[in-house]
Amino acid sequence: MKLQHAADLAALPIAPADLARDAAAAASFNVKAPRRYLDLIDWADERDPIRRQVIPSADELVVDPREREDPIGDAAHSPAPRLTHRYPDRVLLYPTYQCAVYCRHCFRKESLAADDAAGYAIEALEPALAYIAAHPEIREVILTGGDPLILGNERLEELRRRIEAIAHVRLLRLHTRIPVVLPERINAGLVRALKGRLMVCVVTHFNHAREITDTTVLAARTLREAGFMLLNQTVLLKGVNDDAEALRTLFRELVYALGIRPYYLHHCDSTRGLSHFRTTIDRGLDLMTALRGHISGLCLPHYVLDLPGGDGKIPLGPSYVAARSGFEWKFKTYDAKLRDYSEIVPENPPRDR
Ligand SMILES: *Cc1c(COP(=O)(O)O)cnc(C)c1O
Ligand code: SF4
Repeated sequence: MKLQHAADLAALPIAPADLARDAAAAASFNVKAPRRYLDLIDWADERDPIRRQVIPSADELVVDPREREDPIGDAAHSPAPRLTHRYPDRVLLYPTYQCAVYCRHCFRKESLAADDAAGYAIEALEPALAYIAAHPEIREVILTGGDPLILGNERLEELRRRIEAIAHVRLLRLHTRIPVVLPERINAGLVRALKGRLMVCVVTHFNHAREITDTTVLAARTLREAGFMLLNQTVLLKGVNDDAEALRTLFRELVYALGIRPYYLHHCDSTRGLSHFRTTIDRGLDLMTALRGHISGLCLPHYVLDLPGGDGKIPLGPSYVAARSGFEWKFKTYDAKLRDYSEIVPENPPRDR
């Protein structure tokens, strides 16, 4: 069966005690997952990484006062409904607030919970499209939500045609979890709906190598053969993927099995009720150190934090600068050796040795 409502949880092999404890969390944020994704869960393992991403937990009810309803300030930079314009040359456009799955760790979960009934209507997007048309500095339109691929092919094609009619837009980006949770949705009709004048980039959201299956491999192949650029963002989640071996396997398999380049590893946002998922930044930096150099550079994402309030993404590092004095640097190598480096520039003439 698929998970559509909180009541459906009772039909899943969840211990009755857990079910009662977690019911309140189910009431506070939508519950939904396609059957194919639920089938990946090993129910014997309470800490199964897929289970933790979709089955509500009482931990979600624990709210720190520093957590926020709008954790990354999308509303603070919204010059038109369903649009966020934070960076000069690219905007987020929200055609829908619905998804194929409701991820327990979703950073935008409160906008989804509040607005999911609104769904899609091109009329609701007219002010946002007019704003994009009036701002020639915008080169990239990022469809997010919600999950834009939940829309049917006709609606996607209508939206793509409207966006590509704006001459200064060059690239259409889609942020989507559908290739992970509903890979059979990726078909020739979808490719036709998206293909046109614009460069197309699909950014997926895989968090664990267990999410990679034969069907996701086929979905990724369809998108690659269409000529789309494929990237992935992962959210660093305690108890799901905060482990060097889990991340190494995930990032390698994304590249080697799917042909998808890891783009961002997101530090868990300040969304309400995510304390149980949040690692320290130090932990994230240690994990990145355990990856760089040890896996191909093709497999290595940027570790970033989205600042609360809407000031954008901060690249967190780690830094490989151990010390510096003027043009004399001391660097740390990937395997922790210290090496001196003297910059060869006229401002730094060679010294007598
Ligand atoms: C993350 C984000 C983007 C995209 O940023 P890139 O670094 O280009 O991936 C654009 N707009 C907003 C508001 C964002 O939060
Ligand atoms: S698919 Fe994306 S937007 Fe939807 S619940 Fe998951 S993380 Fe949030």
